[in-house]
Amino acid sequence: MKKATKSDFIKFLKDLSDSYEVIAPQKIADEGIDLSPVTDFNKITFDYVNTERSFKRFIFPQSQELFKFENNKIVAEKIKPKKQVIVGIRNCDINNFKVLDYNFIEKDPVDSLYKDARDNTIFIVGACIKNNSTCFCKTFKINPLGVESGDLSYLFDDESKEFYIKANTEKGTELIKKLKCKAASDFDEKVKKYETNHDNIPDLIEDKDLVEIFSGQLDGDKWETIFQGCVNCGICTFYCPTCYCFDIEEEGKFWKGRRVRNWDSCMFSIYSKETTGHNPRPTNRERYRNRVLHKFYYQLKHNDSYGCVGCGRCISNCPTNIDIRKIIKTFI
Ligand code: SF4
Ligand code: SF4
Repeated sequence: MKKATKSDFIKFLKDLSDSYEVIAPQKIADEGIDLSPVTDFNKITFDYVNTERSFKRFIFPQSQELFKFENNKIVAEKIKPKKQVIVGIRNCDINNFKVLDYNFIEKDPVDSLYKDARDNTIFIVGACIKNNSTCFCKTFKINPLGVESGDLSYLFDDESKEFYIKANTEKGTELIKKLKCKAASDFDEKVKKYETNHDNIPDLIEDKDLVEIFSGQLDGDKWETIFQGCVNCGICTFYCPTCYCFDIEEEGKFWKGRRVRNWDSCMFSIYSKETTGHNPRPTNRERYRNRVLHKFYYQLKHNDSYGCVGCGRCISNCPTNIDIRKIIKTFI
């Protein structure tokens, strides 16, 4: 464990910007604190619980060109990914790799766009010293104060304005050599200082087996009401760090245009509509049931991983106040 001053840490990021695009939390007008490419290093802030959106869009963009075509020929292939550093990712969000990697790279065919972006990114995780009322990361055994994830991880001590920083990968070990820092022996004390701040985060599942619980409730009365209020806006899926559905479309004319992939949402009414006109998920009931089961049953059964990390964004951004915590409690 090393220790660096805030100004040395900022200088370290600034130096990295010679070779990487640095993406860090900043105050964005009317949008709160969000991850954004840095142009002014004085604007980076470490005073936030979590960013408005997760880092997902920097490795899996909301809209991504696959290629351009003209007269039956591909005229421009995908652009090479840029090298980037993402700073200030929270422990809940970095756990989305258990879901995204399984879907995009651990099974054939490997999604080269995702893999290239992931391989060209340095991930720097910041431990949480406080939390939101909507956080429930402990439900998934995620430690908000953990410093084990990402290439580098840090705990920023708000009082002394020092970074306690640790390398977790080879990339991180190489990188930390560029940071002016010294050995830290008081890290455990700092963790203790902030630990009680997180006593209020609930563990909604404890050690219960959700596969067993849901396998007996794949249908039934409980599903009749939990979706009520949902307007199919899809915000919950777009904000979610683990949701990865996309659609591929052509834009332009048939002789000239481009192929793009765009995020899609299982909450949209046409998401599962087939070309025959048949829709196997015709109402909100089926759509919401699919979303809940995908997060807490299907992924757990097939990938041994929850499809949720407890970030709380779907709760705070749902226009009709649907709360996924209440839904978990309905079933267990
Ligand atoms: S954000 Fe809320 S209203 Fe919108 S699709 Fe999700 S659950 Fe439904
Ligand atoms: S389902 Fe909601 S709380 Fe869970 S990871 Fe997605 S946005 Fe966060």
